[in-house]
Formats: sequence, C-alpha cells, structure tokens
Amino acid sequence: MIREVAAGSALALLAVLAWQGVNVMPLLFMGGLFLFLYHFAGTRGTSKNFSPVQPGKNSVLICFEQIGGQQTAKKELLEALDFVRFPERVARMGIRPLRGILLAGPPGTGKTLLAKAAAAYTESVFLAASGSEFIEIYAGVGAQRVRQLFDRARSLALREKKQSAVIFIDEIEILGGKRGSHASHHEYDQTLNQLLVEMDGLPSDARVRTLVIGATNRSDLLDAALLRPGRFDRIVQVALPDLADRMEILTLHLSNKPVAEDVTLDSLARETFGFSGAHLESLTNEAAILAMREGSDKVRQHHFTEAIDKVIMGEKLERKPAREDLWRVAVHEVGHALVSEMIRPGSVAAVTITSRGGVLGYVRQTAEKDSYLHTLDYLEAQIAILMGGAVAEELLLGTRSTGAAGDFAQAVETARKIVASGMSSLSVVSLENLPGSILHRVIRQIIADQEKRVRSMLAEREALLREVAACLLEKEKVSGDALRRFESKKQ
Ligand code: ATP
Repeated sequence: MIREVAAGSALALLAVLAWQGVNVMPLLFMGGLFLFLYHFAGTRGTSKNFSPVQPGKNSVLICFEQIGGQQTAKKELLEALDFVRFPERVARMGIRPLRGILLAGPPGTGKTLLAKAAAAYTESVFLAASGSEFIEIYAGVGAQRVRQLFDRARSLALREKKQSAVIFIDEIEILGGKRGSHASHHEYDQTLNQLLVEMDGLPSDARVRTLVIGATNRSDLLDAALLRPGRFDRIVQVALPDLADRMEILTLHLSNKPVAEDVTLDSLARETFGFSGAHLESLTNEAAILAMREGSDKVRQHHFTEAIDKVIMGEKLERKPAREDLWRVAVHEVGHALVSEMIRPGSVAAVTITSRGGVLGYVRQTAEKDSYLHTLDYLEAQIAILMGGAVAEELLLGTRSTGAAGDFAQAVETARKIVASGMSSLSVVSLENLPGSILHRVIRQIIADQEKRVRSMLAEREALLREVAACLLEKEKVSGDALRRFESKKQ
C-alpha cells in the first residue's frame, strides 16, 4: 500500500516538474536504476535477508510441567521424542528415525508450548517459523527459505554444540496445503516440494539430528505427501482442555497472582467450558488487571466473573441504548434465563444487559459437565432456551424485535442437527438427498413445538419475568443465584 502511494506521488511530482519545463530525464534514469536494484534485491536479496527465526522468541524454552493438562498429547509426544533423545537405542532396534511430528488442534491449545518443551526435553536448538512466512509472490523464494531454515538449524546446533535441532512450523497448512489447490500454485508447490526434499534428506547419522514439528488446526487441508510415513510420522491431537485440564491450567497461570480466599478454582473451571489454554491465560490476566484498576490488593471472585464476560464477549462498549431499548433487552435476556432455569435448574451463571462486542446483553450458562454427545432432550432444550427471548418480548411488549435474529439462526442450526442425527420425525435421512421443502417443514415443526412449550412456561411466570427484568434494568447484571432467589420467593 505504502509502495503504491509512494510510486503514485513520485509520478505526480515528475509530471508537475515536466509541465513546468524542468528536464526530468536524469530523474527518470535514476528512478529506473533504483527500481531495477530494488526488484533485484526483492527477488533474490529478500531471501538472503530472510530470517524466519526470532531468537528472543525462541530462546525461552519451557518444560512439560509448565503446560497444563494435555496428558495424551504429552505422552505421545514424549514417546516420540525418546527416539531423538536416545538414538543409540533406536539404532540398535533398527527403528527408522523420526523426522516429523504434527500437532493438530484448535488455536491456543498449547501447540507452540509443546514444541518448545520438546526442544528443551531433547536438549535441541529451537527454531520457529510460520507457514505464511514462506509464501511470496516471487517464484522460488519460498523454497529458498525452507532450505535456509534447515541450514540455519544445523549451523546453530553446531555452534551451540548440540546434537539435535527442533524446527517448529506453525500454520503448516499454508505451506503444506494440497498441491494444485492454490491460485499461484507453482510457487506453493515448489515450497512444499522443498520441504519434502529437506525432510527426506535428513540423514539419520548426521552430526545434527533434525526434527520438524508442524502445527495446524486444519490437518484436512494438508497434502497427502506430507503425512506419508517417513515425513510427519506422528499426528498428535491437541484438544481443548476438559474440566480437570482447565483446573490445572488455571492453577499454573494463577501461581504468580495474589488470589483471594473466596475464589474457587473448581467453579472457575466449570464456568469456562470451551475455553482454550490461551483463553484461560487471558482470563487470569484480565482479572488481575481489573483488580489492579480497582486498587484491590487481591484478585477476587467478581474480577474473575467480569473477566470471563470480557474474554467471551469482548470489551464493554461505551454506547448505551435508549432506556426503552434496554427494557426490551432486559425482558429478552430474562426470558432466556428463566427458560434455562426451568429446564435445567442451576444452569444460569449470570444475566447481563451490558453491551459488549456485538451484543446488547446475554445469559452466561454453566456447563454441568463436559459433554461431547447430545441427546434429543438436550437439543430441544437448547432450542427452547433460544426461543425464550423472543417469546418473553412478545408476552410483555406485544411484539418481537430484530434482537432475536441470532437466536433464530442458532435454533435452525440446532434443529438441522436433530434432523441430520436421525432424531426427527423423518428418522434417519440423508440431508443431501432430502428435498429442501421437507427439511424446511420439519425444522419449522421442531422449532414451533418448542416455541409453544416456552410460551406456556413463561405465561405462567409473567409476574416473575417482569420483576427480574426490572431488577436487571436497574442493576445491569443479575447473578444466577439472585435469579434463583427470585424464583423461590415466588413459589
Ligand atoms: P495457535 O494455533 O493459535 O498458534 P497454539 O496452540 O500454538 O496456538 P500456544 O501459542 O502454545 O497455542 O499458546 C498460547 C498461550 O496460551 C501460551 O503462551 C500460554 O500462555 C497459554 N496456554 C495454552 N495452552 C496452555 C496449556 N496447556 N497450559 C498452560 N498455558 C497454556
């Protein structure tokens, strides 16, 4: 962008000078010479200067104990790393040396940490690069960068008198995507081919044993040649942390923070279902920042509660809707919350009408347990909770609003899941072969049934709905416990 603006300005300046009668030929000549040299340096020289390794970033190695959870990934990785650590044993058994390990999993789950720990465990030098750093529009640059990375690993290990090197390539799907799938595929293919050549050429008896660790959250995009035995021999799945793992990660990140006695790790871990390690780190950090802003000497439960909202939904917005709109938002959110409590008592953690990110209010639910399978009852309950907002608006205000559009989209998606899993009145069907009109009718029916159920639930509790919404309008936030107290008072 800057280059285009500079070129445009230079041309404009030349035009003005020429128009005023100045001889611009020498300037044009100098400019041409400069451009030639720049281009030359761009195609050849950049690769010379390219350094995918940022020493500061990579020199901080960590050990496996500093990574919370991920027991399966650690176990598999450690087993593979012993091949690098004890080469004599491997040679004695005639085992082919390991050249590559692929860490596959969602963002922020600790793949980079695992690679760094792998380097520390094997006493190797560590070099890191990202797949996108290899991709240039100039043909041959990517391949040259791959070659340089491997050369650099070897020379660094020799200089530091180490016998092995770990090369970590993050976002490897950018560099190792299926060949022929990119628009400028020649350059991409050359780069990937070079990586394959380097990995195949890693000799087992070299002075420096090199192990490539790739990380991706889209292993489905990788070229089959990369996953062939002898290249990325091991695929280690790095999953989102479960309840016990979240406790471990929180403990690690809270170890250097003054945490108040009223904070219970167990409830924090329960409230953070679906969080990655990076989310949890950010949560502990945000909570400490909030405590410091408040001048508190300890990080307290309410700092964590606020930080969870911030990590999930984003920073609070200054924008304040009109009071009339806020009342509608309060009714809508309490509608969701009451239905949630009626179907799954104890499921609401908090209801708020604070604008954050793109939303005007929301209900945070607590996950009772980490579940990876859902029954029909569960999915129908989800649809009912989603419909609770619009139905509550209709009951108290007589009309619905656009605020429910997101809920409806999610309800349709959930109903589609019911059909796809063979749990609808159609029994087991192939979604691909199902005519759109039939799918639409069944989805409509599933949602209408839940809407009817929710309408009768909320109609019986209209007074409670009004009372909690009024409290929410006044206080901006009502905790799950406070909501349950309102409920028990009414019974
Ligand atoms: P990406 O795929 O986005 O590159 P990643 O899987 O490589 O992410 P990391 O960079 O390893 O994730 O993790 C980011 C940060 O999240 C770490 O610096 C650390 O603070 C925290 N983190 C992630 N997972 C864990 C974990 N298992 N234990 C402790 N901290 C973790």
